[in-house]
Amino acid sequence: HADTAMYSAKDAGRNTFQFFVHEMNVRVLRRLQLESGLRRALDRDEFTLHYQPQVDAETRALVGVEALLRWQHPERGPMLPGEFIPVAEESGLIIPIGDWVMRSAFAQQAHWRERGRQQLSVAVNISALQFARPDFTDRVAQVIAETGADPRRIVLEITESALMDHSPSLTQRLQDLTGMGLTLALDDFGTGYSSLAYLKRLPLDRLKLDRSFVRDLPDDPDDVAIALAAISVARDLGMQVIAEGVETQGQREFLIAHGCRWMQGFLFSEPLPVQAFDRRFPPSPESE
Ligand code: C2E
Ligand code: MG
Ligand code: MG
Ligand code: MG
Repeated sequence: HADTAMYSAKDAGRNTFQFFVHEMNVRVLRRLQLESGLRRALDRDEFTLHYQPQVDAETRALVGVEALLRWQHPERGPMLPGEFIPVAEESGLIIPIGDWVMRSAFAQQAHWRERGRQQLSVAVNISALQFARPDFTDRVAQVIAETGADPRRIVLEITESALMDHSPSLTQRLQDLTGMGLTLALDDFGTGYSSLAYLKRLPLDRLKLDRSFVRDLPDDPDDVAIALAAISVARDLGMQVIAEGVETQGQREFLIAHGCRWMQGFLFSEPLPVQAFDRRFPPSPESE
């Protein structure tokens, strides 16, 4: 009995092990395929940007748009950033991809600017790795010069992880960017670990309340507490605040009642290809 028990345990172990190796190979393979696909995606022109409106929820006026990356994978079809940005970051490909995003989004701003939408600002997500490059500020200046974008209508969305480096050069870099006229937004606010005292010292213009804290408003007392804290921090530090992921009237009303008028979410619009955006949100003479 002891023997058979031993053997079967061993066999089971071996099977589990082989199964595990197989699973691992599948994962590694998928990861490698994704990486080589990403490597070719720029040359093959498989990326596009969609634009999601950010609105003043009281007046419904457009505050700006956020550019969101989409990848049309030749075999797998449309892919969202959550599926490939982590691989792009691990492989370093986020640098050329992020550069493409900047060039496209800034060019779009310049295009809107020429088409009578001078006031429309375009927000671009910047990866921590991209932001950490010593030449980041110069690259931003170069792309502005090349595309003719108005720096006062460009918003850079950076996450707390990009601000973890507490060196004086970080503050200098942020100051250089705001000095060029750009707006700096802290993305996914509340999900990182920065202390408020630390944030206070940085020249950030805008705070984006992460959608994980918006989802269960107004019923979840924890989310209510976090949302109210974020709104009051923004007010105290003289920052604009915008709530992400607003999907319901209940969320909208709660946020307005507590002093957060700027919102982005499916309640107003999902991210749209540029032509669809222009159709759904045609320029209006008084706001643009
Ligand atoms: P994010 O910057 O916080 O962008 C907002 C995300 O929330 C977008 O997801 C948007 O589609 C989604 N969203 C907006 N409103 C709603 C809503 O009402 N409900 C729900 N459920 N979702 C909503 P998306 O486009 O999948 O992007 C996910 C994340 O990927 C972004 O989060 C950003 O961190 C990153 N990302 C997107 N584009 C780029 C890019 O060009 N460069 C880099 N480095 N990161 C990017
Ligand atoms: Mg963002
Ligand atoms: Mg965000
Ligand atoms: Mg977010």
